[in-house]
Amino acid sequence: MPPLPSTPSTPAASSAPSATGAPERRTELVEDLMERFPHIPREAVLKEDLLRGGIAFDDSALSGNEDGDVKPKSYFIFSFDHRTLPELGEAALRRPPEEIVLTGGPYELRRTVVSVRVNPDAPYRVQAGEDGSLGLYLDGRRIADVGLPPMPDYYRHTLANGKSVMEVAPTIQWGYLIYLTVFRVCQYFGAKEECQYCDINHNWRQHKAAGRPYTGVKPVEEVLEALEIISQHDTLGASRAYTLTGGSITSQVQGKDEADFYGQYAKAIEERFPGRWTGKVVAQALPKEDVQRFHDYGIRIYHPNFEVWDKRLFELYCPGKERYVGREEWHRRILDSAEVFGARNVIPNFVAGVEMAEPFGFGTVDEAIASTTEGLDFFMSHGITPRFTTWCPEPTTPLGKSNPLGAPLEYHIRLLDAYRAAMQRHGLSSPPGYGPAGAGRAVFSVSSFMDTLPPEEGSPVS
Ligand code: SF4
Repeated sequence: MPPLPSTPSTPAASSAPSATGAPERRTELVEDLMERFPHIPREAVLKEDLLRGGIAFDDSALSGNEDGDVKPKSYFIFSFDHRTLPELGEAALRRPPEEIVLTGGPYELRRTVVSVRVNPDAPYRVQAGEDGSLGLYLDGRRIADVGLPPMPDYYRHTLANGKSVMEVAPTIQWGYLIYLTVFRVCQYFGAKEECQYCDINHNWRQHKAAGRPYTGVKPVEEVLEALEIISQHDTLGASRAYTLTGGSITSQVQGKDEADFYGQYAKAIEERFPGRWTGKVVAQALPKEDVQRFHDYGIRIYHPNFEVWDKRLFELYCPGKERYVGREEWHRRILDSAEVFGARNVIPNFVAGVEMAEPFGFGTVDEAIASTTEGLDFFMSHGITPRFTTWCPEPTTPLGKSNPLGAPLEYHIRLLDAYRAAMQRHGLSSPPGYGPAGAGRAVFSVSSFMDTLPPEEGSPVS
């Protein structure tokens, strides 16, 4: 690994306040963490910073929506932006790319896939350089070459009713995962029930208000038709898995409870395309009989997300889940589900960073990491491997409003460290269904945990 380049003397294009309130160039913060945590890939340090704080896009780096050559951002479940659509300017009219891939630059980055979260005020900017090639600029300095995802062939086709494949069955993670948000709203509704970091309901409203196609409940037949198009045109076989998800169902949707509603899609997919993709579901921690139905329908990986480990924060941040199920029962159900799916295929997510959100979160990185490590040990001691997405403080959520800068970057880097150490402590390897592990190999785009884990033997470096 090359030594860190000397910090340039060009003035900062943007700065963020430090913990002491003094202005601090982001370059210095990033390089300080790269030096202090040399065993964490530099790629992961930058990726976490891009995910927690977003990226500004020059107009020339936006896509041509569904008519261009670049795969546009599909808004596959949440907005994952730092501004509302009306505040995004040109990026609301011509979507940004779904993801970017970083290489090279002064940190000699290996191939790093990053999900796009737009923030017009971010110190990171994607724009063309003097030679016309796209680069990522931090504080005004070019730090990486930027590749954009090509428009997949299957996005150029529409369903018989005119709907786009991107709307019905978008792919993320550089085409690896088909993301089927089949229910675009959540029945935990309003301030007393919605999770305090989640904008699923707002995102649905803003897309409807903008006149974008945004189907609330996706008919099974539409999903099958979109998958047929993907199956025919994904000739390289990049798509390997699908995720069924959406809002929580506390009563019924179309006469079905949560297990039967989401399960019906898996059943139909597995009947039409047996074994073509690995089926995953992100749903509530349901009683074991319901979890068994998921498995019977053909789902093979279950994500009953635990969101945040600390008891007080779970109660405050997930009031609906606390009221309807309760944290202890939620955890008990996660453990029980291992008897159905096998511990290795139960992968509960948590939202990394919300445990440091003001006003209720931990005041120090030490406390936040200690709490989350306790949760990792709890699950991993049962053979269950949690994973995490990096919190994006969306502006319409209560936690996003009071914490527009998200969690400190140091928290995210130390979490990567703590996560990897916990996996080693419990003898676990990277979870299934996320593509390859390791810097230069990973495609999982909404957190860098896969970039940080050791690569499996024999997997190629990109
Ligand atoms: S359960 Fe919480 S995180 Fe999940 S969709 Fe509903 S409000 Fe969002």
